[in-house]
Parts: sequence; structure tokens; C-alpha cells
Amino acid sequence: MLDADFFRRWMTVTAASVDREAERLTALDSPIGDADHGSNLQRGFTAVTAALEKETPDTPGGVLTLAGRQLISTVGGASGPLYGTLLRRTGKALGDAAEVSADQLAQALRAGVDAVMTLGGATPGDATMIDALVPAVDALGTSFSAARTAAEEGAVATTPMQARKGRASYVGERSIGHQDPGATSSALLVAALAEAAGE
Ligand code: ADP
Ligand code: MG
Ligand code: MG
Repeated sequence: MLDADFFRRWMTVTAASVDREAERLTALDSPIGDADHGSNLQRGFTAVTAALEKETPDTPGGVLTLAGRQLISTVGGASGPLYGTLLRRTGKALGDAAEVSADQLAQALRAGVDAVMTLGGATPGDATMIDALVPAVDALGTSFSAARTAAEEGAVATTPMQARKGRASYVGERSIGHQDPGATSSALLVAALAEAAGE
């Protein structure tokens, strides 16, 4: 079973990974966007870890809804409301249980990813974070490490795609040949989940 500490660990491992990879995320956002994805997420996840230290929510749902709220309020770019919605909706689906199963988490994350698709209007194949998140949630029924692999493959698979949503869609066909920054950060988020689970 997964308790609040597990979800806190997921968020702190994500924050550390975003810090480490910020330059790479921003570099990916440079040719097809506005070169701020790394700094956007650094600001957001720094706020997440600070809020989790201050407020110490004691349920999985409480950890994720607080994290989501922080991302929405601190990240100006598109990724803030999108990741914020992902975590908030996932947290809401987990309710106020003190511990949840991996299956419950998989179901809740599915609801979170659906909410991101509703908010942003992207579907698989549009070269967005959805291309990493959907395969990850599909693989989560198998294991956390299967989800990590699926997310990484999903991120790489955005390279030959033309972006159909978000800022990268403004450059039209010129987005072809570039890996999507948000799909790349989604793979970090899922890898952090596997790491938090010790896989
Ligand atoms: P901004 O584009 O506002 O500068 P970021 O650079 O932080 O925001 O985030 C860009 C990422 O957000 C993209 O790489 C993409 O994965 C994701 N994104 C943008 N718009 C959408 C959308 N409508 N649906 C899903 N993901 C999106
Ligand atoms: Mg950007
Ligand atoms: Mg921006």
C-alpha cells in the first residue's frame, strides 16, 4: 500500500530530477517554443516541495491536491495548469484514504490524464505530454518500471510528430524532428514515481 510519505517522496524525487534536467528541458523548448519549460517546472516543483514541508498533508490525496494547487499558482506557462490539473484530479480521485493500492493509483492517474486532455484538448499523436502520460498509465497495471519505460518511449516517439497543440503548434511543420519538452518532463515525472516505489 502507498501512503502519504510515498507521494511526498514522488514529489521530492520529481523536484530533484527537474532541477537536474532543467537545462535540457529548456533546450528542447527553444527551437519549437519559448525556452522556458525547464525554468517553469523548476519554479513549480520548488514551490511544491516547500508547501509539502510547511503543510505536511497526511493522505495521498492531500499531497497531490496540494502539489497540483502549487503548480497552478506558480507556473505561468501552459504546463502549470496542465500538470496542476493532472495532480489535483488524481489527488481528488484518491479521496481521503490514508493508504491506496497501486491499482487505485493507476485508476486515479487515468482520471487525471483524462482531465488534462479535457482541459488542453490534446489527444495522443498531437506531440504533447499526453504522448508520454497515456502509455504510462496504460502500463501502470503491469509495474511502475513498465510505466517508466512506456513514458520514455512515448516521449521519444513525439520527435517525428507535428505538434498540434500548444506553442509548438505555432511553428507548423518545423516542429517535426523535435522531441516535445512536456512529453520529456512527463517521462521524468513517471520515472520519479518508479524511483519512489524503489523500482
Ligand atoms: P509554454 O508553452 O506556455 O511556454 P511550457 O513551455 O512550460 O509552457 O510547456 C510546454 C509543454 O506543455 C509542451 O511541450 C506540451 O507538452 C505541453 N502542452 C502545451 N499545450 C498543451 C495542450 N493543449 N495539451 C497538452 N499539453 C500541452
Ligand atoms: Mg515554453
Ligand atoms: Mg512560456
